[in-house]
Amino acid sequence: MKKADNILASDSFTLYDLKVEVVAIDKPMICGHKEGDCFLVIGENLVFPDNSNNYFSMYALSALLPLLPAKQRRLDKNDWMLSDSLIACPDPNCGAKFKITRIGTRSFSHAECTAVNHHAKSAEPPR
Ligand SMILES: [Zn+2]
Repeated sequence: MKKADNILASDSFTLYDLKVEVVAIDKPMICGHKEGDCFLVIGENLVFPDNSNNYFSMYALSALLPLLPAKQRRLDKNDWMLSDSLIACPDPNCGAKFKITRIGTRSFSHAECTAVNHHAKSAEPPR
């Protein structure tokens, strides 16, 4: 292995690619969701399929956004964030659920994602 490959290998981390999809339950959907509407999460990007009939509510998106970075990462097998993948619409009268599925993995380079030094200690809790 060349030195450059070595640096790249030590700099890499893996995230799951996600698919977020509208699923229907017995309760009617109110917000204009359609079963099967979806988007992908690839790294930091939300990717919407090239389909003019594919919509996604910004209110539903606001409820989903805090969960997505956690779902992209490896989790403890006992973590509820791993097992819970159906998220309710924030409208209490709406029956839509949003299913988050891990669809693959992808490697990223730390240096290509941030200007912060790879060995910075700022993320550690205070002692
Ligand atoms: Zn809804």
